[in-house]
Amino acid sequence: MCGIFGISGHPEAARMAYFGLYALQHRGQESAGIATFDGKHILNHAAMGLVPDIFDEHTLGQELRGDKAIGHVRYSTAGVSARRNAQPLAVRVRGVEIALAHNGNLTNAAQLRRELEDRGAIFQTNSDSEIFLHLIAHGLAGKTLEEAILNACGRVRGAYSLIILSQGKVMGLRDPHGFHPLAFGKVHRAGPDADAWVFASETCAFDLLEAEYIRDVKPGELLIVDGDDITSLKVPGADETPVRQCIFELVYFARPDSLVFGEDVYRCRKRMGMELAREAPTDAELVMPFPDSGVYAALGFAQEAGVPYEHAYIRNHYVGRTFIQPSQTMRDFGVRVKLNPVRSMIDGHRICMVDDSIVRGTTVRTRVRKLRELGVREAHFRVSCPPVTHPCFYGIDFSSSDELVAANHPLERLPGLLNLDSLHYLSIEGLLRSVSHPDHYCLACFDGRYPVPCGEACGGDCPAQGGDPA
Ligand code: 5GP
Ligand code: MG
Repeated sequence: MCGIFGISGHPEAARMAYFGLYALQHRGQESAGIATFDGKHILNHAAMGLVPDIFDEHTLGQELRGDKAIGHVRYSTAGVSARRNAQPLAVRVRGVEIALAHNGNLTNAAQLRRELEDRGAIFQTNSDSEIFLHLIAHGLAGKTLEEAILNACGRVRGAYSLIILSQGKVMGLRDPHGFHPLAFGKVHRAGPDADAWVFASETCAFDLLEAEYIRDVKPGELLIVDGDDITSLKVPGADETPVRQCIFELVYFARPDSLVFGEDVYRCRKRMGMELAREAPTDAELVMPFPDSGVYAALGFAQEAGVPYEHAYIRNHYVGRTFIQPSQTMRDFGVRVKLNPVRSMIDGHRICMVDDSIVRGTTVRTRVRKLRELGVREAHFRVSCPPVTHPCFYGIDFSSSDELVAANHPLERLPGLLNLDSLHYLSIEGLLRSVSHPDHYCLACFDGRYPVPCGEACGGDCPAQGGDPA
């Protein structure tokens, strides 16, 4: 997963991108970067770490000049964690400078990379995003930039929300299935032609900039901002491709104060909790989440079940990631310093925990062990999404089925395995009742119906090999 941002027509574009990325930090904490256009050249600054650690007064105020900027926060799903994979990626080809920020995973990356390398392309990174740059660069011979971008889209498969900065234009683009989000908005400023245009993965970035949300970039749309001219073009195949947005954005990934795919994430999560309470009620004394994921589903669950909602774990808000050291002792400290139990809420009580998801099962195992130590009488667990049984090839970090606890054990054995008194997942139908456009989602991680064949991403042996053209 990743977060992307773009702005055009703002005198402090880099600073706006900085705040935009700050709001998108939850989408990736590994590296961040901003590229700007100063009227002549693209300037780029990217590094490993969190947004506030990477940029300072000098980079924002002097280095990154210009009224157009794009930015990226990275969570590595494809390609190793390294500085050279930090985005935006920027290149100069045939006299054209291009910078690009990508959220998603291409499924035919390996094949395209081999083809490009056979034709002499030299790759600087091992992230699939660079393939776009090469395809665009190749396509520039005798073609406009827009044509080259659309041709590149015709070659790649899989998930991409992209923001591209080139020739003084800022462009937002979503793949035809629209796997990952991208919103478009406007910053109102005083004076003639003073408004600025913005793109962001999530609208929480607009709120911070006091930008008005206009609409989403549509699945299969290339939206071009050139000064105050806005042009919309269609990616090849856009009309014939069903919309398959990633429902996990709503379950877990996006911030609850965002609109994503036009859905109010907070309300969606609460509805998931309510549906879950109808499907699998509890007679526990209290319902609790673990901060912060699962809070909104737990709220909906408790309201619907009529069971008191409590916080039996308290979070220390001053823990930075730097605290977490690579030795096991220090890791255990890391967990304890972050979350501390209110013992009296647990000892001797019947508790129902609600969380957004179980992936590998590590989190729930650790938590239940702790609750047992603290003398919990009954430990019940409710999950506000269906069992994750299939890996994701489109950008969510569910790498292989071997790691997915629900893929490797029958459901009825899971409570025993996880030391729970009861365990229930939300059904797919319940999940779909929680969203406004139930037929617009990719549910592959729950049902194995992959909208795009996974290509070679799985190593050649998985149910997505042939794809499901649903
Ligand atoms: P597990 O420990 O079962 O592997 O993961 C489940 C927990 O991780 C849940 O509490 C959920 O909130 C969180 N989670 C779910 N998806 C992701 C993800 O893509 N990245 C990270 N960092 N956490 C996730
Ligand atoms: Mg969690």
